[in-house]
Amino acid sequence: MKTLVCDVCKRVIQNPIKDRNYFHIKDRDLCEPCKDQLELVLKPVVRNKHPFNYDWYERLMVESIEKAVQKGKFEAV
Ligand SMILES: [Zn+2]
Repeated sequence: MKTLVCDVCKRVIQNPIKDRNYFHIKDRDLCEPCKDQLELVLKPVVRNKHPFNYDWYERLMVESIEKAVQKGKFEAV
């Protein structure tokens, strides 16, 4: 059986199916709860960004993930 470990919470993801129960963003694998957490953390920041810029968003997302990987969880930006 294929298993995968979430880079943030280090939980094992059983039977990983991309974009279903895990998400591959850049070089990182996130489980579903962590992906939800990432969106929750980014949402208020993105809402205040005018005009929206995709490069900026991608950078913000990668930075947030890297920070979360070090801390083991997502925290508000
Ligand atoms: Zn996780």
